[in-house]
Amino acid sequence: MVKMMKKILLVEDDPFLIDIYTTKLKEVGFSVEVATDGEEGVKKAKELSLDLIVLDIVLPQIDGWEILKKIKAHAPLKNTPVVILSNLGQKK
Ligand SMILES: [Mg+2]
Repeated sequence: MVKMMKKILLVEDDPFLIDIYTTKLKEVGFSVEVATDGEEGVKKAKELSLDLIVLDIVLPQIDGWEILKKIKAHAPLKNTPVVILSNLGQKK
């Protein structure tokens, strides 16, 4: 039986963090899609069939809270879990 890989959308603008999260998530068997800004994040969230959305809060243009509102306002995504990433206040 083929086991379907769980698909995660990572919305993050920092290339270093994208690299770390993508590598780690793929290592443990997830399929990972990346969006580097809010517009792309919302677009991909609507287009892809996702199991989880990992959302950065500090993003250019639309911030993570705004993206979260847009995602949750889209009926098919109402039950898709969203994990908020925040490195606010962490300098290291
Ligand atoms: Mg960021």
